[in-house]
Amino acid sequence: MSGVDSLWEILVVATVVALAGLAVIVGLVRGGGKRGGKSDTTTIERPPTTPVEVEPDGDRPQPPPGEGVEDIGGGVAVEVEPEPTTPTLERPASARGRLARLRARLARSNNAIGNALLALLSSGGLDEQSWEDVEDTLLQADLGVEATDELVGKLRTRVQVDGATDPEVVKGWLREELLALVDPSMDRRVAASRVGDRPAVILVVGVNGTGKTTTVGKLARVLVAEDKDVVLGAADTFRAAAADQLQTWGERVGVPTVRSDREGADPASVAFDAVKSATEYEADVVIVDTAGRLHNKAGLMDELSKVKRVIEKQSPIDEVLLVLDATTGQNGMRQAEVFGEAVNITGIVLSKLDGTAKGGIVVNVQRRLGVPVKLVGLGEGPDDLAPFDPEAFVDAIIG
Ligand code: GDP
Ligand code: GDP
Ligand code: MG
Repeated sequence: MSGVDSLWEILVVATVVALAGLAVIVGLVRGGGKRGGKSDTTTIERPPTTPVEVEPDGDRPQPPPGEGVEDIGGGVAVEVEPEPTTPTLERPASARGRLARLRARLARSNNAIGNALLALLSSGGLDEQSWEDVEDTLLQADLGVEATDELVGKLRTRVQVDGATDPEVVKGWLREELLALVDPSMDRRVAASRVGDRPAVILVVGVNGTGKTTTVGKLARVLVAEDKDVVLGAADTFRAAAADQLQTWGERVGVPTVRSDREGADPASVAFDAVKSATEYEADVVIVDTAGRLHNKAGLMDELSKVKRVIEKQSPIDEVLLVLDATTGQNGMRQAEVFGEAVNITGIVLSKLDGTAKGGIVVNVQRRLGVPVKLVGLGEGPDDLAPFDPEAFVDAIIG
């Protein structure tokens, strides 16, 4: 080996070391967080590209691969070791009409309720037994005792006064009364636009396994389809895999995830950093995922209160979404009340409505918590989350 060659090797090694050193410094600065030693536990995983402009209607021509994708001077890893391939970003389905698209799925699991009710109501000669059967059907659909009494009371009055047995007329009444219970007047918009000069902050809470992380991922897609700049925060630090799961969702649509690589890192600190980065990047919205399991319930509630308190040092929280698994019925409802005591819930996401004939829970949970169902999960697919639309929902149920 000649002297020139080894000199060359030394130069290369030195350059690599210098670049790596620079990269670490850049990483620390970008990572933010001025409190001692905090910043190096939280890394901001920026995808190597900004999101490709998304045209929800898909009528704009797509740029050829590589174009329309611009380097934002990305993360550390990009400078030292360029990504071997530019990931192809997915185009999420537009939010509008999602529930209509998923209607068949909702109907499949839930129109048994509608069918049973209509069969009973239009059978003519409604006796006491028939009304009890109507009640049972509604209770089985998880409508709850209070709403069931109300609905049956109203229908009985109408049948008494008008004496109609024409199935179409009865169906119309049922539709009207169900819709009134679902309450179309509630504001179901999800706060996801900048508020003044800061991003909107959404906190997502709920018991383990209800579908929080999936919901955050799906919601990010809904928002990307609306051309929003989204940042995700992986404040479920209970398991390292939780952050990976979230980051994967983000990467598919070009959304960065603020996370910690350390299992058991302080979730409040990750949440703090997520909101901070979103502010720095002038994002439209930051969505913070949280853990649903700790050593005990009190511990979890303390942790959530702390996450909330620490975020609020920087920014008001605009939305706290509680994810509830629609298949868990009364049990889910009790969980919801416990969460409601720790954080101020502003909206409900009902997940897994595709797998249950208990759509009545929409009405029940809204009454118990006094907040609207804003989104519904209707499957495991990436675009199986829809804004909740009372009319489409009732139509799907009664066919
Ligand atoms: P987390 O523990 O609350 O974060 O729950 P995950 O987001 O990890 O979801 C738990 C499981 O529920 C996963 O297998 C999801 O695919 C599934 N899941 C989430 N939402 C829905 C839904 O709307 N429908 C169905 N069928 N499955 C869902
Ligand atoms: P207290 O627990 O209510 O007294 O609030 P602290 O001010 O002690 O903050 C509690 C936690 O919030 C800290 O342990 C951090 O995890 C987080 N935190 C608060 N301020 C910052 C900050 O400026 N940067 C980061 N990264 N985390 C912060
Ligand atoms: Mg999770």
